[in-house]
Amino acid sequence: MKETINIIGAGPAGLVAAIVLRKHGFPVKVFEMSSDVGHRLNGDFQGLENWSSERDITELLKDIGIEINFLCVPYYGGTVYAPEMKPAEIKSDRPIFYLVKRGAMPGTLDMGLKEQALSLGVEILFNRRLDAFDGKAIVGTGPKGGDAIAVGITFNTAMEDKSVLVFDDDIAPKGYAYLLVNQGCGTMVTVLYREYRRGNECFEDMKRFFKDNMALDIKNEKKFGSYGNFFIRDTQAHNKKLYIGESAG
Ligand SMILES: Cc1cc2nc3c(=O)[nH]c(=O)nc-3n(C[C@H](O)[C@H](O)[C@H](O)COP(=O)(O)OP(=O)(O)OC[C@H]3O[C@@H](n4cnc5c(N)ncnc54)[C@H](O)[C@@H]3O)c2cc1C
Repeated sequence: MKETINIIGAGPAGLVAAIVLRKHGFPVKVFEMSSDVGHRLNGDFQGLENWSSERDITELLKDIGIEINFLCVPYYGGTVYAPEMKPAEIKSDRPIFYLVKRGAMPGTLDMGLKEQALSLGVEILFNRRLDAFDGKAIVGTGPKGGDAIAVGITFNTAMEDKSVLVFDDDIAPKGYAYLLVNQGCGTMVTVLYREYRRGNECFEDMKRFFKDNMALDIKNEKKFGSYGNFFIRDTQAHNKKLYIGESAG
């Protein structure tokens, strides 16, 4: 019998590790402090990046045994705005990114990975916060504090599918803002790397910007805020812990 692997955090990093290890025959226990997966996210769209590897990300995922049982839509281009520049249309023969949905609802990356893990016999212990663990563990607990904050909305819309990226220090100081639309649902977010107290003001500036630049249609908007880390640890392993996902940098 192989040794049981303990994983802290049932985010995408922890769940993917659990699925892969289970497929290699290890018993796996995942400790998750929330009552379900995806609690940090809000039904918003994110992009699985597909521009930094030769192979398609969905093929890479399949290679390590991850099924695409969640919303995963290829986007082949989009519009980029930068200050004092005309909007640039980006187009590519291969998907630039795959749009995924995040959160604790059907169709999300989080729910899809949870289903795969459970069906393989991974034991997920919800409402189990572990701040100290004596022994070997894989740690996938996500960001610690925030190097960047995000203020955004999810909404319904009659707009066509699109992806728009904006670089502008008034709208997103040292960061970026984006608009993603898929099949009548949208996400609009500003990500600030500086001047965090201006979050709500930047959000209003972003909305104004999109209104000025396109026929914006927003219904049933739901506002959310979040945060993330953009640091690299010196090492991903110390004190019998292996750090993965955003907790690894
Ligand atoms: C608004 C926003 C937009 C983003 N857009 C993109 C994007 O387009 N593309 C992209 O690649 N990334 C994006 N990201 C980043 C992406 O969401 C994260 O990198 C990713 O979710 C990290 O996954 P993870 O598994 O490492 O951590 P998380 O998803 O944070 O999961 C960590 C899990 O660990 C649990 N946990 C934490 N501490 C403990 C503890 N002590 N004990 C037990 N459980 C614990 C948490 O409850 C959580 O479920 C975005 C982030 C935000 C906030």
